[in-house]
Amino acid sequence: MGTKTERRTAIIQGGVGLAGMLALIIASVRLDSLGISAESTRALLILAGLVIGTVSFAIFAQGWILFADKLSRQRSYTAVLFFIVGLLDVLHISAYSGIKLFGIETGLHLSDTLLAISHLLGALGILFIFSSEDQQVSGKHKLMTFIGGALVTVIGIGLLYTYQRKYSTWHTYEGRSFGNAIIWMVTLPIILLAMISMIRRARESSSSAAITMVRALMFMLLGHTFFMLVDMRLSLLHAVGEWYMVISYYFVMKGVYRLTIEEPFRSQQAVEAMMKHMVDHDDLTGLPNLRRMKEELDGYANHFGASCIGITVINIDRFKAINDSLGYSAGDKMLTEVGERLSEVCHGAEKVYRMSEDEFAVILTDVNDAEAAERRAISLLRSVNPSVIIDDTEYHISLSMGLSVYPVDGTSVEQVIQYADMAVHHAKDQGQEFSRYVDTMKLVTQARIELENDMRKALDQEQFFLEFQPQFSLQTNRMVGMEALVRWRHPKRGIISPGDFIPIAEDSGLIVQLGEWVLRTACQYNRNWQLAGYPPVCISVNLSMRQFRQYNLAERVGAILNEVGMEAKYLELEVTESMTYDIETALSQLYSLKQLGIHISIDDFGTGYSSLYYLKSLPIDRLKIDRAFVQELMLDGNDAAIVSTITTMAHHLQLKVTAEGVESKEQLEFLKQQNCHEGQGFLFSKPVPAGVFENEFLQPACRLRSFFI
Ligand code: C2E
Ligand code: CA
Ligand code: CA
Repeated sequence: MGTKTERRTAIIQGGVGLAGMLALIIASVRLDSLGISAESTRALLILAGLVIGTVSFAIFAQGWILFADKLSRQRSYTAVLFFIVGLLDVLHISAYSGIKLFGIETGLHLSDTLLAISHLLGALGILFIFSSEDQQVSGKHKLMTFIGGALVTVIGIGLLYTYQRKYSTWHTYEGRSFGNAIIWMVTLPIILLAMISMIRRARESSSSAAITMVRALMFMLLGHTFFMLVDMRLSLLHAVGEWYMVISYYFVMKGVYRLTIEEPFRSQQAVEAMMKHMVDHDDLTGLPNLRRMKEELDGYANHFGASCIGITVINIDRFKAINDSLGYSAGDKMLTEVGERLSEVCHGAEKVYRMSEDEFAVILTDVNDAEAAERRAISLLRSVNPSVIIDDTEYHISLSMGLSVYPVDGTSVEQVIQYADMAVHHAKDQGQEFSRYVDTMKLVTQARIELENDMRKALDQEQFFLEFQPQFSLQTNRMVGMEALVRWRHPKRGIISPGDFIPIAEDSGLIVQLGEWVLRTACQYNRNWQLAGYPPVCISVNLSMRQFRQYNLAERVGAILNEVGMEAKYLELEVTESMTYDIETALSQLYSLKQLGIHISIDDFGTGYSSLYYLKSLPIDRLKIDRAFVQELMLDGNDAAIVSTITTMAHHLQLKVTAEGVESKEQLEFLKQQNCHEGQGFLFSKPVPAGVFENEFLQPACRLRSFFI
């Protein structure tokens, strides 16, 4: 906007300048009849000379003295340039007034030469100095430029004064020496060229400084043309021409200041502001981040002393599953949407922050006590619009919130943020939408941290062991496979079930190591049983998403099979539907696993977001219907329909189906009717230790179970 107005002003100014000039040229014939005294015009002229000298030296000083630590090439060159130009202009006026220098006669001719050279240098200088990018230069460079410029000028002026008489005898042209006329004419296109290059620059970078320079060159052009067209022996016209140059140099000063000081400073400021923004804002949502939140909370805490601040942490339920199954870009959109929804419902000074991957925070500052904070937090949470549209599909998001209150719950900002985070995890664990921090939550979190630490030692200390759960064919009633399930014998807490430690292992990354141990141990057992002479069966091992994403997964699995000496066809890996989050990776992983010759099943089928479309393109062997559907089978018609649909679909896709969590005969009957291939569940057996498994299920007599009969 700024440059637009500037452009308009420049055009108006140019128009006025041009009109004035034309008017003067037309009127010049009659100027003498105006009766302006010689004294007045002389005064006007000397004044113009003084102002020109002042402005030129101001340009010099500006380049030389201001921000001397941030010297640039353009600035130091223009400084030297205008030092010379100013000097020439002052000498020009003094010569015009007939003032002698070094006792040398001066006059109109020398004055004209000095002025012509000053214009030529000014235009050439601007053209060259501003035709390339600016750079920083050293103080030494600046000094050398100045010394060089001053030397050349002094020598040049000396020569000019000494030999001027010779030149003045050259041919004359309209009262002007031929030599001078050439300089005057050559200068004109140079000014034009400089102007064009500045206009281009102003367009490209929409720099208002460049427009100012264009204005300078425009007045230089007008002044110069004026000097060329009218008879300069008329002092009044000469004075007017000088005033055009005054305007021009004034704009040069302004332009150079803006180009070399103001604009770089502004852009540096903008870069700094952007960097600061990047440091304390989140890229994706543009919201301030945790770092910023801490800073601001510190500010509030120090400012308002003991007054009350509510810190809420908001977590998107099942975000990981959404992200895994819909893909990262959908996940990103969801996060952006949630950020916006939260911002929409904030009042007054309340502000939303992005804390971590799937967590946001809102700071409640307009509350007087903890109860008010709790009321406001709940009303805020409830007013969030839960429907989110991503890629034309509507999703219903549910949020959980934790609240802690400063300084009631904790006296340090770090502490209260941590407590709000604990509160939201507590809410999620309890299946609640809201939870206010209480001190006992600290214990739960500590316990989790302890568990994670213990787990690191548990692998080395062989605290993990496997149990096996048999899988039966519903057609032949025979045991056809088994699933290996890991358990942890904690030295103090006794047996811990995987539901309690697998999520921690996944969060901490320990799952990769643990999973590999499970795989090796399970294969080892199966191989040993085969070597002991039992009829070989397939063993299923669970694979967590983190393991599935390992780039060299197939290689690792192959190495374990080799090491154990078990044939690949006796191993089945169970992966969850969320692997389809990134179908490309999933396909390549599955194909390389299949190449080993192992089987692949999809675990907990029906609970994720997997696309049925992908299902037929995946190289898989089996679907395992999640036990949640099986367990509600006889109570809920919907679940029965789901089970029957999954089975039918699997038949079509020529996949095997295993029903998980079979607990009753009724369920078994229903599954048989649906032609479900296999079953696994407490009805047949709970997962049992290796010894029990061997005795109960591997002995030939035990393979056919009574419950089928
Ligand atoms: P999952 O893969 O769905 O494993 C089956 C779970 O269902 C087992 O729980 C099993 O004890 C239980 N179950 C089997 N039949 C029935 C039944 O009739 N009724 C009921 N109510 N439950 C039944 P577990 O052993 O506690 O394992 C829980 C989950 O932990 C497993 O679910 C699996 O996701 C994970 N897990 C277990 N071992 C491993 C492992 O070695 N690696 C990985 N990554 N995950 C494992
Ligand atoms: Ca499983
Ligand atoms: Ca399962």
